[in-house]
Amino acid sequence: MAIVTPVEVAPGARRRLAISSPVTGEPIGEIEVQNASDVRAALERARKAQPAWAAQSVGERVRYVQRALGLLIEKQDRIVEVVVRESGKPATEARMMEVFAACDSMTYWSKRAPALLRTERVPLHGLLRFTKKLEIAYRPLGVVGVISPWNGPVILSLDPTVQALLAGNAVLLKPSEVTPFSGRIVADLFREAGLPEGVLELLVGDGETGAALCEAGVDKISFTGSVATGRRVAVACAERLIPCTLELGGKDPMIVCADADLDAAAGGAIAGGFLNSGQFCCGTERVYVVEEVADRFIEKVVARTKALRQEASGEFDVGAMFWPRQLEIVARQVDEAIAGGATALVGGRRNPRLKGHFFEPTVLVGVRDDMALMREENFGPVLPIVRVRDLDEAIARANDTSYGLGANVWTRDARLAGELARRIDSGSVCINDLTMTYGVPEAPFGGRKQSGVGHVHGRDGLRGYTQALPIIRDRWGGRQAATHYPYGEAKDQGMKKLIRFLFGTPLGRWLS
Ligand code: NAD
Repeated sequence: MAIVTPVEVAPGARRRLAISSPVTGEPIGEIEVQNASDVRAALERARKAQPAWAAQSVGERVRYVQRALGLLIEKQDRIVEVVVRESGKPATEARMMEVFAACDSMTYWSKRAPALLRTERVPLHGLLRFTKKLEIAYRPLGVVGVISPWNGPVILSLDPTVQALLAGNAVLLKPSEVTPFSGRIVADLFREAGLPEGVLELLVGDGETGAALCEAGVDKISFTGSVATGRRVAVACAERLIPCTLELGGKDPMIVCADADLDAAAGGAIAGGFLNSGQFCCGTERVYVVEEVADRFIEKVVARTKALRQEASGEFDVGAMFWPRQLEIVARQVDEAIAGGATALVGGRRNPRLKGHFFEPTVLVGVRDDMALMREENFGPVLPIVRVRDLDEAIARANDTSYGLGANVWTRDARLAGELARRIDSGSVCINDLTMTYGVPEAPFGGRKQSGVGHVHGRDGLRGYTQALPIIRDRWGGRQAATHYPYGEAKDQGMKKLIRFLFGTPLGRWLS
């Protein structure tokens, strides 16, 4: 049973893909894969529409986002239904991760964008303050390509799209072929909100469409997905000398200190490990707990994991894996770990009771750092727990990875928490909570090492969809330029004196 299967088509016709449910295997629908000429046509429409969109004020653009937000709230049940059908997530998880997060993103950026995108006056230093004035205008880049993955099909399509639109760009959105109907929701909302034609173009398809988008001639790519694809996107953007942000995979560590609230930490471990069936870029993938409290912590995690309900319908806590290929990766890593000496205290296998793509919530001990489970991204409901002598060992092992997306630390000692956070080589760190940085739009969100390039949130995340244009005005009507030439001994000596004064005397240094 595969979720995405090619459909036979007549020679020369566009490729078609059939999508089936990860829960029941029942067909959900088919998509036609848009090719390079479809992408070029969409880009042409976007290019035509963008100048008028950019000419509107940010406040006017906010009104479209607000209308789309109203529609999202009104249609939330239907949206949850589409996401659940396509992904097998519990409805509460779909509402939390997709609808709540999308509403928060639209509200946050609508409120902040006008101020963040306003032309800024920046005071100048040294002698420049007497001669020049600087303002920085934030101009749209033009047309932005947004490429999104399947694990958060609505929010990871919507959030970059909203920011790029508010900044005055047109957007070509290419959601994942694994969740095309959830990805389409974003384009539908904005269409119904009356967004001018061409300002947001939906591209339906798979890697072929995504690659064509990177090559089509857009002005930036905002990519969220795997490291392997991210690298291809980076190469394509480098060849065209266009910027890209890459939000890639993770191998997030969790560190449990001896003074941690162990009930809270156990709850955080299972939420971090099993949220979205572990298909969460900032999911907890490795737990390092200090020896003193390891037995008690593991006991609590095991008890809580055993209480989780995994079902195909009704009320349940842990849903299906969205994608059979991911399920195979998870099963291979867990099988290899068990064959190599690890023990599954709970789970450890595909759920034999359920027909769809379900992997049991799993807690493993006795894992080694050289196991694939501890080195590759797992992206499944699997929580390997490692005992460590002390916090130095915890930090060293947490940092021994090619990834660096999120991390979380559990302790009652605020000073220690801050100190540990600064020693973890990661894009962000959360204290006494699972990694939820993506849900905090004020925080710059991005990865270290293979986890990505650039930031998607925070002030610079939004401004990343613009060109910062410095405009430098002369205070004296340009009279200085009139005396630039000729050079000569007198000018040279004057410059020498000025250098000595400005950078070599206390008064000069104060002025500089
Ligand atoms: P993926 O890389 O397979 O696909 C992502 C998107 O890229 C899809 O839309 C796909 O069609 C498209 N694509 C495929 N080949 C392409 C190409 N050559 N050029 C351009 N686009 C192409 O990733 P996935 O399996 O859909 O998503 C899971 C991955 O995403 C995990 O590694 C996860 O950690 C990561 N992720 C990261 C974040 C983050 O913010 N850092 C968030 C969510 C998911």
